[in-house]
Amino acid sequence: MNAYLSSVIEHVRSRHANEPEFVQTVEEVLSSLEPVIEKHPEYEKADLLTRMVEPERMFTFRVCWEDDNGNWHTNIGYRCQFNGAIGPYKGGLRFQKNVYPGIIKFLGFEQVFKNSLTGLPIGGGKGGSDFDPAGKSDGEIMRFCQSFMQALYRYIGPDVDVPAGDMGVGAREIGYMYGEYRRLKGAFENGVLTGKGFSYGGSLIRPEATGYGAVYYLENVLKHEGEDIKGKTIACAGFGNVTWGICKKATQLGAKVVTLSGPDGYIYDPDGVTTDEKIAYLVEMRSSGRNRVQDYADKFGVQFFPGEKPWGVKADVVMPSAMQNDVHMDQAKQIAANGVKYYIEVANMPTTNDALRFLMDQPGMIVAPSKAVNAGGVATSALEMAQNSERLVWTEEEVDKQLHQIMDTIYNMSVAAAEQYDLGYNLVAGANIAGFQRVADAMMAQGIF
Ligand code: GLU
Repeated sequence: MNAYLSSVIEHVRSRHANEPEFVQTVEEVLSSLEPVIEKHPEYEKADLLTRMVEPERMFTFRVCWEDDNGNWHTNIGYRCQFNGAIGPYKGGLRFQKNVYPGIIKFLGFEQVFKNSLTGLPIGGGKGGSDFDPAGKSDGEIMRFCQSFMQALYRYIGPDVDVPAGDMGVGAREIGYMYGEYRRLKGAFENGVLTGKGFSYGGSLIRPEATGYGAVYYLENVLKHEGEDIKGKTIACAGFGNVTWGICKKATQLGAKVVTLSGPDGYIYDPDGVTTDEKIAYLVEMRSSGRNRVQDYADKFGVQFFPGEKPWGVKADVVMPSAMQNDVHMDQAKQIAANGVKYYIEVANMPTTNDALRFLMDQPGMIVAPSKAVNAGGVATSALEMAQNSERLVWTEEEVDKQLHQIMDTIYNMSVAAAEQYDLGYNLVAGANIAGFQRVADAMMAQGIF
């Protein structure tokens, strides 16, 4: 590998030895940039990459909250404002007990490239807390969110940093956080958060956007291979908001999602998660807070596989849509042995780096990277910001049309970037290069700081 790239990777490895997820994403992204760095010596001269792998700013804060029994708890809140060269920092908040700086930093770094790829004016950021929402009452969630916002509000704003949801943070949490922000600021600045409820400035289609966008991206890939989405079977993971959106759009287009998963195992539904009743049940499962996918099997009489992941199931398309590092080498081998042709990442960094390389090396297999495939979510957040600043509401058709166009552009830009550097049809490298290029241009233009 190019000596400059290796030295930056080495620097990150030694400085962030306790943050393996962050090291993993840096290695993955930077290894795609080799031809770009060779063609543009000015980046090395300005030592651009060392600055790109360092968040502009990252901070923690104390979040104290009272449970229903009158006991006090203290969690850690995080916000990482990774890169603001092309727009206000933008990215979700994750509430999950395993959250620590390495998770927030990896998500923030991915977000920089993803947001750039959307072509919209949004920088990259991420945040969250090690608060575990499982089993918490509504009142506990509200008090936690209010306390979280009391600590965060002075560091965010519609032109500064615009958080949104991620795992453990949905419309309910965003609502409580916005209420607290409004009370503290005494102003209706609703462009400060996205993923809001429709009644106070949320965008239509935002809840569906990540899943819809992933399916629009998949359609582009299938078209490239001369295939149609109709009749395709899709193996998904998770049963959250993203998988729900995939089920909805896949069904509309005549495809079917046949697996869902949870911390307890996975379900296989050969008829597909295709009826309104089944799709609506995913929302119910999520809001129950039980965090069990077995409930689906019990309700609809399908098979449940306790403690297993769905990657052994034969399907035309595999879409890991649950969480990071869900697919390791063993699962990747299984997927390849099943003759899967389309491996479309959806969750942020769902594949370990060795498994990803292995899948990309399989003859005939097409691998698409999450930072492109799931970018429809944050892109629609940017459309929500645009509506908020215009004090307008766009129709469902208008938002969906723009989302569709953005996904087509992301796909086309990725293909073109890979071709420009003679990498062939390489959607992974193409997305990294296209995402990098825009941020690099903006950073170079704005001088060294
Ligand atoms: N958390 C989502 C993501 O990973 C959405 C972020 C946003 O809408 O700002 O992109």
